Amino acid sequence: MEKFEVIIVGGGLSGLSAAWTLAKSGVEVVLLERGDYPGAKNVTGGRLYTRPILEYFPGLLEKAPLERPIVREGATLMAGERHITFHYGDLEYSRDPRPSFSILRSRFDRWFAEEAENAGAMILPKTRVDDVIREGGRIAGVVAGGDPLHADVVVACDGVLSLLSEKAGLRGPGGSRDHAVGIKEVISLPPEKIEDRFNLEKGAGAAHLFVGEATRGKFGGGFLYTNRESLSLGVVVGIRDLVEKEPALAAPDFLDDFKKRPEIAPLVRDGETVEYSAHVIPEGGHGGIGPLCGDGILVAGDAAGFALNLGLTVRGMEYAMASGVFAAKTILDARAAGNYSRERLSRYETLLKGSFVLQDFESFREAPRILENPRFFRHYPEWLGAMFHDLYDVPAGPKKRLFPTLRKHLSFPELLALLGDLKKARKL
Ligand SMILES: Cc1cc2nc3c(=O)[nH]c(=O)nc-3n(C[C@H](O)[C@H](O)[C@H](O)COP(=O)(O)OP(=O)(O)OC[C@H]3O[C@@H](n4cnc5c(N)ncnc54)[C@H](O)[C@@H]3O)c2cc1C
Repeated sequence: MEKFEVIIVGGGLSGLSAAWTLAKSGVEVVLLERGDYPGAKNVTGGRLYTRPILEYFPGLLEKAPLERPIVREGATLMAGERHITFHYGDLEYSRDPRPSFSILRSRFDRWFAEEAENAGAMILPKTRVDDVIREGGRIAGVVAGGDPLHADVVVACDGVLSLLSEKAGLRGPGGSRDHAVGIKEVISLPPEKIEDRFNLEKGAGAAHLFVGEATRGKFGGGFLYTNRESLSLGVVVGIRDLVEKEPALAAPDFLDDFKKRPEIAPLVRDGETVEYSAHVIPEGGHGGIGPLCGDGILVAGDAAGFALNLGLTVRGMEYAMASGVFAAKTILDARAAGNYSRERLSRYETLLKGSFVLQDFESFREAPRILENPRFFRHYPEWLGAMFHDLYDVPAGPKKRLFPTLRKHLSFPELLALLGDLKKARKL
């Protein structure tokens, strides 16, 4: 009978963080990943905010294959033929320790897997887990490729649609309301072209989010991150809106249409698509977090629902990495006590609650409810677009005074609805 101290299922950031932390402490840990290599099946936008996790990963900024430090933020409201763009630059973003970086998961996760292996973890790619083993009411291992593999404890890091936590009876399948789908292309471009097009110093990076016509008024948005020699461009659409709301478009069509938009086309011109991917994202926020442990099992990363969309920032990777570390620390404690019961493993939740992970989810508890407001995705971009059109427009005849032009758009019902939305947004 094959038996390990710890089995981790999933070689994304949560699984690799857990494996690396455990291996460094001399624990016998095996990580099972269904992809050809860690990073092969992993999708992100991808911007990694490094400040919250530096204490757990010393040397990350020096050693990891990070693409570009993000020094410039952008946001665009898209409406029909119009758009309004806002840029934010901050010199602090260019000083060490720089707060966020673009990354490519195929590169980053591969590097991280090597680090974990060097620390002593055993990583088995091309190994899909299909079930859990139960013994005496606890999880005692997994079944991979028909073979039973036993362990003192299993960590489910198998991503957003976590089969493992479902099989372990910790959660049911999530509803469409709690999930979005992301479609992404990596488009290669020479570094000088990237720097010219985005007005960047050599080696610096930009992040840009888009809302409105990018998703045809459905819940979601577009994103663009600059990498060293490529752009990561994508669209995220809420699955419920995708299925229920007009226009009925297939998810990939959103990205095709987005690339043709006048705001995007000049940025990707002459670029070659070198990677195409689609992936589900947890959007449930605090309400989407499932049970975090059971007898003999812990759940980390997307599998636990740790992804948080605030409109201005999309975060999941540092939650995945930190939760992997906390799962590992919990296991070290349980191992010392020789006790992998649910009660002992529930110290994981205490660690998460004491950290930025669950404190962020608590602070932004109301975010999903506030952001699902359909007015953000069609009405506001169109309304503001029409207002700016009239303000900038110089007609053939006499131009109207600016104040009455503004007044025309700022009607009483409009202001009332805006106030209502602002009142709800106070909880963000
Ligand atoms: C389009 C998009 C844009 C995003 N943008 C950002 C962003 O800019 N910033 C950010 O911080 N977050 C972003 N996120 C979220 C972030 O990517 C995730 O939160 C993060 O990748 C979660 O890491 P994870 O290790 O928990 O899961 P994953 O990276 O999904 O890893 C799960 C792993 O488990 C493996 N696996 C699954 N089932 C099995 C099985 N049965 N057997 C064996 N292996 C299995 C998979 O192959 C995979 O390697 C984005 C997500 C998407 C989809």
